[in-house]
Amino acid sequence: MCICANLKTINNSLKKGVVLVAVSKTKPSSSIQEAYNCGQRIFGENKAQELRDKHQELPKDIEWHFIGRLQTNKVKYIAPFVSLIHSIDSEKLLAEVNKHAKKHHRIIDILLQVSIAKEETKTGFDMDVISEILSNNLFDKYENIQIRGFMGMATNTPDETILTTEFQKLHQLFTQYKGIYSKFDILSMGMSNDYPLAVANGSNMVRIGSSIFGTRDYPSK
Ligand SMILES: *Cc1c(COP(=O)(O)O)cnc(C)c1O
Repeated sequence: MCICANLKTINNSLKKGVVLVAVSKTKPSSSIQEAYNCGQRIFGENKAQELRDKHQELPKDIEWHFIGRLQTNKVKYIAPFVSLIHSIDSEKLLAEVNKHAKKHHRIIDILLQVSIAKEETKTGFDMDVISEILSNNLFDKYENIQIRGFMGMATNTPDETILTTEFQKLHQLFTQYKGIYSKFDILSMGMSNDYPLAVANGSNMVRIGSSIFGTRDYPSK
């Protein structure tokens, strides 16, 4: 397994303007350092304490993204430094992140996670409550939060028709709000198995783990 070669292959296949988040969850800091030495600066993790520990150990110019289920009582571990939280799935969590951001005199960038897959295990706001949420003065109410866009996870299937439908759905919603909010500029869709299709359907940020670091040895949930 060569992390550098994998990164190069993926970067060469991505359109200009598409940001690569290297998903390093469960992987040791040495693997992250290896990717860093090949030029990668953006990494994604899905556990708050694991992220805090890796942030302490690794170079300070890394941009850390949080991509997993975030419990309100764990926001404190990542609030001082996190660059982007992809997985905001309730207003309660949004309020909690705002509170901690304020405490650290920061404005934290976040994405609203939208449920686009059929599977019940996938979390996020339902499509039809997004407009309700966003019309609810969210942008003014939480002064220490910047809503930058949406994150979505498609159904875990090789069926390209299903994947395309799901990616297009979220891209459409994104386009609609991008026209209204000037700070809306990130659409995070696509993982190792489906990122080419996600990018073809409007994604401008992909979250790729196993295709860079190899398969994970133990479940990450
Ligand atoms: C683990 C994970 C990824 C990366 O998955 P791979 O299939 O390893 O590329 C992307 N997004 C989220 C939210 C994840 O939890």
